[in-house]
Amino acid sequence: MKLYVMYNGLADDFPREAMACSGAPLDPKDCISIPTTTILIDHPKAGYILYDTGWTSREKLTFPTSPDEYIVNTLDRIGVKPEEIKYLILSHLHKDHAGNLEPFKNAEFIVSELEFLQVASLLLQNKISGAYVAADIEAWTKANYKWRLIREQYEVVDFVDGVKLISLGSGHAFGILALLVQLPKTGNIIIASDAIYGSINVGPPILPPGVIMDPPGWHKSLAYLQEKAKEYDAAIWYGHDLAQFQTLTTADEGYYE
Ligand SMILES: [Zn+2]
Repeated sequence: MKLYVMYNGLADDFPREAMACSGAPLDPKDCISIPTTTILIDHPKAGYILYDTGWTSREKLTFPTSPDEYIVNTLDRIGVKPEEIKYLILSHLHKDHAGNLEPFKNAEFIVSELEFLQVASLLLQNKISGAYVAADIEAWTKANYKWRLIREQYEVVDFVDGVKLISLGSGHAFGILALLVQLPKTGNIIIASDAIYGSINVGPPILPPGVIMDPPGWHKSLAYLQEKAKEYDAAIWYGHDLAQFQTLTTADEGYYE
């Protein structure tokens, strides 16, 4: 099994207070840079498994700054065509994680049932806002995607040999799927996505991000992931941690096995 970390650009306009809440008022001019990453697993039996797809192309963004950072181009550089992806696991449906679903024509899409149903409900009420992009979600309703909804909450769900879903409840989003990957050489890794933005949130002291939809749920998700990291002796890879990202081997440099 090979695991590739794909880099999907640096957002340089992320308010510092939104990364970790110090209690100060959110100053939109006091910004930090945060990376966005997606993961490709080349599994000996299951085939290609993709975890997230990066930033949407349906909103005008100042990033990714280079075509190299779009997922389809990153995959192309390691010789993988989007049609070859068999499973697409979406951590949640925010615009920096579930953009660009269209090229993955043959994949089964796996998402938290809570997240899926709440987003569908918002769409029907014309209330899509924040990090969800109405144009993306409307397009998904017209596409004939095959969705698999994960109903479990706060459970570790077997996916394929060496890959488990850690299904969380509401917190940062309505529902998040983290990933537990068991690599023979590297060891176990929990890919937390936005359940934990970065090490600054973990503390001590614990500092939640500035914008979360369910604060007690966010704390519960953090505690659950920490418990699973202990139980499985796993490292945690955060959703948007620049310092940690700089220590990782990217898909252009190599892979984990
Ligand atoms: Zn994110």
